[in-house]
Amino acid sequence: MESTMTGNASGKKKEIHVGLCGAGIGGVFAAIAIARAGAKVTVLEAADHLGEIGAGIQMTPNVARLLRKYGVDKVIGDNLVRFEELNLRRKDGTPVGYTQTSRIEGALDQPWWLVHRHHLHQGLVTVARQHGCNLMIGSRVVEIDYLESNEVTVRTEAGETHVFDLLIGSDGINSVVRRTLFPAVKPRPPTTNCAYRAIVPYEQIRHDPIASTLIQKLTMEVWMSEKAYIISYPISAGTDFNMVLSHHRPHPVSTVEDISMADLRAEYATFDPRIQRIVDMIPNAQRWPLLVTGPLPSWSSPRGNVVLMGDAAHSMTNHMAQGAATSMEDGAFLSVVLREVLAARIALPDAIRLYERERMPKAFRKQQVSFLNGAIWQLPEGEAQRARDRAMEPELRGEPLLRSPNLYGDPATVLEVYGYDAEAHAERALQEWYNGQDWRKDEGTGIEAPVAEKVMNWFLPEKEKFVSKI
Ligand SMILES: Cc1cc2nc3c(=O)[nH]c(=O)nc-3n(C[C@H](O)[C@H](O)[C@H](O)COP(=O)(O)OP(=O)(O)OC[C@H]3O[C@@H](n4cnc5c(N)ncnc54)[C@H](O)[C@@H]3O)c2cc1C
Repeated sequence: MESTMTGNASGKKKEIHVGLCGAGIGGVFAAIAIARAGAKVTVLEAADHLGEIGAGIQMTPNVARLLRKYGVDKVIGDNLVRFEELNLRRKDGTPVGYTQTSRIEGALDQPWWLVHRHHLHQGLVTVARQHGCNLMIGSRVVEIDYLESNEVTVRTEAGETHVFDLLIGSDGINSVVRRTLFPAVKPRPPTTNCAYRAIVPYEQIRHDPIASTLIQKLTMEVWMSEKAYIISYPISAGTDFNMVLSHHRPHPVSTVEDISMADLRAEYATFDPRIQRIVDMIPNAQRWPLLVTGPLPSWSSPRGNVVLMGDAAHSMTNHMAQGAATSMEDGAFLSVVLREVLAARIALPDAIRLYERERMPKAFRKQQVSFLNGAIWQLPEGEAQRARDRAMEPELRGEPLLRSPNLYGDPATVLEVYGYDAEAHAERALQEWYNGQDWRKDEGTGIEAPVAEKVMNWFLPEKEKFVSKI
């Protein structure tokens, strides 16, 4: 294939202007990563101000790694909250499963943070500006010309025109970039499952003699029930108690809905009185759809000058807390391959093809794991639910485990999802690309790079890490 480039004969560096359509968590994070790689970055955001609505969000170790590396954690500070343990319960409060957070954090050498979306987004925006990204509000993209030339011309509702070498669609579920590339694709609610999101101040809970017994420590709690669950965790420096309340409706839900608070309370009236009393304190909430996009056959234009990331490409159900995390991983991966484009070692269309080839299966896998965890937490009462509870029991006794239906603590899932390093993946994929689409074996041992990465490199000091001789 003519496309593989292993060097830059002229030694000349390229300059590229990357445009991002959408300044959500994924878009702003990608802007930082790509600016760090050396590209000029402009982000066009439809809204009149930068921000995030909604409530809390988990930043699991796979993305805590990136927030730390890019210095975003320092800016957010105490608003990144750590928690001691995860308790999985039946809806009446009976303990079923348990994960000590330090076990995961210690094994992966990364924290597991809980944060208000607003604090996360503010931190990302601050760091993006520090890196020279141009964040333009009131810039709704309405038209994209990308077929006739390698350059992409973007027009906004306000009548402005922008020209980019690469346009990244980070514009979420209703992405105009995706609709332009793949008009037939429609995000869909795969089931009747949807969720309320809500926040109650810890101070209010402390005044309730029953509910206050739940908040002696900073914990994550999950109450599992047939076709419903509640997950709760602290955010905002431990001052707010965040809840996602999963439930089903008679019909699939496709848009955010206003609700009656009486309906919300009725939904959880048979739950553990400790959490039920907190549900009763929720001042207001909305019903959020859980829309899934794809898997798509491609994320990019034929010239490789327009590409999708985040929810625009692969929105998923919330049950594994990986939607924003996967979006951020996309940005981190893209930044590594774009660094190589800037160094003129790989052509832009090839870099985009590499991104698609590697990231599309990863995103699909996250969609699958998210479905799985939703099904496990919402099993109907009966044989399967009892088998699930029995399989989680060893965790309650503190016994070491090889596998568990508690996917937040299951060793294989933890390694696959929370142990994933998007940048290291991109570096390996580039090596493979430069060497003819083939992982090279180490001549002395026969060990292939991805195997070494999984089994050996995690415990070796940096200078001793096993690297295939290329
Ligand atoms: C109940 C619930 C709980 C969740 N919990 C978690 C969690 O704990 N952890 C996690 O990782 N994920 C979680 N998620 C998923 C997460 O919220 C999303 O995956 C994530 O926010 C997607 O980020 P994004 O940047 O790709 O898209 P978005 O956040 O949707 O951002 C898109 C941006 O593009 C802008 N835009 C749209 N159209 C245009 C246009 N034409 N021109 C310019 N700008 C445009 C929008 O205004 C917006 O700012 C949860 C989701 C739900 C529903």
